[in-house]
Amino acid sequence: MRKNAWAVMALACTLSGCGGQASPNTGNETATDSTLDHPSDVRTIQTGSVTATWIQDNAGEKLMPRTLFAQAPDALIDSLSLQNGIPSTVSTFWVETQGIRILFDTGLGAPDSRLLPCLESLGVSPADVRYVFLTHFHGDHIGGLMKGDSVAFPQAEIHAARTEYDAWMKMPEGQKNQVAKTMEAYQDRLHLFEFGDTLPGGVVALEATGHTPGHTVFQAGKLLVVGDLMHGVALQKEHPEICASYDMDAETAIATRKRILQYARDNHLTMAGMHFPAPAFITE
Ligand SMILES: [Zn+2]
Repeated sequence: MRKNAWAVMALACTLSGCGGQASPNTGNETATDSTLDHPSDVRTIQTGSVTATWIQDNAGEKLMPRTLFAQAPDALIDSLSLQNGIPSTVSTFWVETQGIRILFDTGLGAPDSRLLPCLESLGVSPADVRYVFLTHFHGDHIGGLMKGDSVAFPQAEIHAARTEYDAWMKMPEGQKNQVAKTMEAYQDRLHLFEFGDTLPGGVVALEATGHTPGHTVFQAGKLLVVGDLMHGVALQKEHPEICASYDMDAETAIATRKRILQYARDNHLTMAGMHFPAPAFITE
């Protein structure tokens, strides 16, 4: 499956590292010793008229723990050699389509987050970010919208699903604090869409609920930004019936995962996933 992803890269690939700050491999993989082998955290592909740049937000290695996938039998985990975790990332995508540039999700906003330095390496300042489309409101997707109590992107128009917004606003105080604070900070520039709407850049918002009440997949030409459709690709791409415990409504998440994966296959789309392993593109 990764072979296909790499085929896309080979077809049209620009590499532009952004400081080479990837942490040394501390996991169980045997890392080669050359610093040249550090994975770059920025990579650009062209698919049709759409240019998509993957930006890895996490500074170090990211493995999803095996315990997240309680339904996965040990025999399956063993056969895939995933006992020590499933390779993953926290990713965002910077996409150029129909003459505008859109940031899809914003990562964690952690002190060592790579989003802003990576954008800077692409010549993009925070004020240059005019469009942010959100797949959902979990902290590893909206965290980068704030810098302390201030907005990180002073010129950005934020687009998110009305279903997601309404559901979070009904949640208890403790659960919705970060969402409420962030949405209030951007309230003058917050645009709530319905599933099926066409957004700026000709991007279509597709219903992909289950992970969260308003989880959204975005299609721009042959690019499908799939958010948290899969947290452990090595496991869930072939076994979409397995959920990560992060999926808020497991039954709906499973049906959505199967449906979107089939849709990507039927239409030969390139999926960009916020927790796919580097470089976070998979072409079906
Ligand atoms: Zn996530």
